[in-house]
Amino acid sequence: MNLTGLTKNAFVTLFEGMRAPKWRAAQVWNWIYKNGADSFDKMTNLPAEMRARLQEEHSVQTPKIVRHELSNDGTEKFLMLMEDGNTVEMVLIPEGDRNTLCVSSQIGCCVKCAFCYTGTQAFERNLETHEIVGQVLLARQCLHDSGSLNSKRTLTNIVMMGMGEPFHNYENVANALRVLMDQDGLAFSKRRITLSTSGVVPFIKRCGEELGVNLAVSLHAPNDEIRGKLMPINKQYNVKQLIDACREYPNASDARRITFEYVMLKGVNDSEKLAKELAALIEGIPGKVNLIPWNPWEGAHFVTSPEEQIDRFANVLSRAGVTVMVRSPRGQDISAACGQLKSAMT
Ligand code: SAH
Ligand code: SF4
Repeated sequence: MNLTGLTKNAFVTLFEGMRAPKWRAAQVWNWIYKNGADSFDKMTNLPAEMRARLQEEHSVQTPKIVRHELSNDGTEKFLMLMEDGNTVEMVLIPEGDRNTLCVSSQIGCCVKCAFCYTGTQAFERNLETHEIVGQVLLARQCLHDSGSLNSKRTLTNIVMMGMGEPFHNYENVANALRVLMDQDGLAFSKRRITLSTSGVVPFIKRCGEELGVNLAVSLHAPNDEIRGKLMPINKQYNVKQLIDACREYPNASDARRITFEYVMLKGVNDSEKLAKELAALIEGIPGKVNLIPWNPWEGAHFVTSPEEQIDRFANVLSRAGVTVMVRSPRGQDISAACGQLKSAMT
């Protein structure tokens, strides 16, 4: 068993089963998550026979990096190989003092939004808990390895915005986030974790109650007519149901706003009229709008909105009292930007 796939409770139970004292579980947890140990050999304060037994029955493996690309803006993209031969991508985005890791939750995605490259890939499977936690451990290793002694870089933020719909793999994503937030381990604050969903409504409330992380919602259009064309999931959960769930998102406040993601597609969803409709739709929700210039990929039939149109759209929102940001594309030259991830080897 890969120990990084276990929640704290399951981890403790495993050691109980080995008849080891309670503090041994804490010691091993500490080795994995605080010290970044990737093998039992490195856990030097464990008795030799316990190390041997753990070695025989378990592992602390992370996925393997099979390709690493560096963008001219500093963004890094990693292609990782899983035990079963599948591959998946993650992206590391440095920004001032922050290092944000964009983590994947599935191999492929069955939501199949029209503008997203990941959606063109056949859905393969959900990632296991250890494969999600493993991405973070791996990124942390890479940062430590590349940092010089006086400029050690640390991972500060996690966004569940890589490949896949996190709420279609809720249990594994939730367990992974619990491991990452554990105070005795990596201790990521829920304020430094953002989960992005295409709008799988029933999980929104659960996520708020059980995990309390920041929520980002891929809205992309203020009405069913346009959203339905862009995102097939809108037929299952329509705009009204989605907005109602956001209105009730536990813990949302002016200090902890919901991010509405809105990809800017020329002539499709970028008119000032739609900006007004959007402002009216989200009125009263503690939220902000993140405008994402569409990132192109080969074979797509969309065009990115011109900068001036994005500004006009943003101005309408601003004037209506909506907080709005335009996301600058990162890592486009290595296809590492939003919606450009795909896990083909070639
Ligand atoms: N599957 C989740 C999270 C991953 S995508 C979701 O859809 O929310 C992260 C964001 O990038 C989403 O808002 C998604 O809609 C957006 N996106 C997808 N393809 C894009 C593209 N080609 N250009 C810009 N943004 C894109
Ligand atoms: Fe899946 Fe998100 Fe891409 Fe839609 S935008 S296909 S939900 S990864």
